[in-house]
Amino acid sequence: MLDFLFGFFSHDLAIDLGTANTLVFVKGKGIAIREPSVVARHKKTKKILAIGREAKKMVGKTPTQIEAFRPLRGGVIADFDATEAMLNYYINVVHENPKSFIPKIPRPKVILGIPSGVTEVERRAVQDAALSAGAREAYLIEEPMAAAIGANLPIEEARGSMVVDIGGGTTEIAVISLGGIVLNKSLRVAGDQMDDAIVSYVRLKHSLLLGVTSAETVKMTIGSAYQPKEEKHSVVRGRDLENGLPKSVKLTASEVREAVSPTINQIIESIDETVEEIPPELVGDVLEQGITLAGGGALLAGIDKVIAEATKMPVWVAEDPLTCVVRGAAKLLDDEKLLAKVRVTGGLK
Ligand code: ADP
Ligand code: MG
Repeated sequence: MLDFLFGFFSHDLAIDLGTANTLVFVKGKGIAIREPSVVARHKKTKKILAIGREAKKMVGKTPTQIEAFRPLRGGVIADFDATEAMLNYYINVVHENPKSFIPKIPRPKVILGIPSGVTEVERRAVQDAALSAGAREAYLIEEPMAAAIGANLPIEEARGSMVVDIGGGTTEIAVISLGGIVLNKSLRVAGDQMDDAIVSYVRLKHSLLLGVTSAETVKMTIGSAYQPKEEKHSVVRGRDLENGLPKSVKLTASEVREAVSPTINQIIESIDETVEEIPPELVGDVLEQGITLAGGGALLAGIDKVIAEATKMPVWVAEDPLTCVVRGAAKLLDDEKLLAKVRVTGGLK
C-alpha cells in the first residue's frame, strides 16, 4: 500500500548510463533528459564545473586547470566520483519539483542500465550513488538486456534473441533466452573508435589535424558502412600539420567509409565469434530471427546491410536505437516480476 502511494506521487526513473550519452526517462512523462555523458571539473580542487551538453562543448577547448572528460570509458567506470556527480545531478534535476510543497518526498524508484563490463564492486558503488542521490530503491540491469526489452524482443521465451548494441565506447553483443543472458561479449570498439579512425585517416591522407568532435559530425552526416550510391562530401576544418595554419579539406563519403570500415570489421568478427559459441539448441532460433542492432552506432548508414552480408543472417535496426536501453529499463518500472528476473543487483535502501 505504502509502495503504491510512493509510486503514485513520486516520479520513478529509468536511466541509461551510457559511455557516450545519458538518458533519463520519467514515469508518466517520457524521456526528460538526453545529454552527453561528459563532466567538466577543476583539476586541482575537483570542483564540478559543468555536466552534459555544457561539459561536452568544453572538450578539447579547456584551459590547463580544467578537464572535460567522460567518466565511463571503455564500458567501465573510469572515474567514480565524476559518475556519481553526474548521476546525482540528473536524479535531482528531474526529481526536484519547484511546485511541490513537499520537495524530494516521496523519493523515486530508479532502474539503471549499465554496461555489462562494469564489475561487481562498481555495480554496488553505482547503486549506492543512486541511493545517496535520493533514490528510494535502485536496481541495475545490463545494457544488452535493457536494449532487448526496449526493442520488444521475446526475451522471456525459450528462444534465442541476439542483440548487438553499438554505443560510443563499447559494443555489447548478447544472446538472451528465458529472461537471462546466455552469452555476452563486450568489446571496447564502437562509435568512438570510428571517430578516432577518421582523425587518423585525415591526418595521414590530408596532413590535417582534425578534432574528434568534428570527426564525429562527419561520421554522422556523410559516414556509411556501405559503398554509397551517390558520393556525398563534407568540408572539414582543422590545422595543417605542415605549417600549423588553419586549413579546410573536402572529404568524401568513400573516404569516411574507408576510415571506419576496420572498426566495423572488428565488430563483425566479434559477432561471428559469439555466433560460434551459441548453444546448439538456440542457434536455429538466432539464425532465423536474426540480429537486432541498437545504440547510436546502429544509425551509421548501411551498417545493417554490411553485417547481414558478412554474417549471412537477417539484421534489423531497432526502432529509435539511441533510446532503446532507456525505454527497455522504463518498461521494467511497471513490471516487478520481470525486473526481479533480469536485475543484476538492487533493492531497498
Ligand atoms: P552509449 O550507450 O555508449 O552512451 P549511444 O548508444 O548513445 O552510446 O551511441 C553513441 C554513439 O553513436 C556515438 O559514437 C555517436 O557518434 C554514434 N552515433 C549517433 N548517431 C549516429 C549516426 N547518425 N551515424 C553514426 N553514428 C552515430
Ligand atoms: Mg548504450
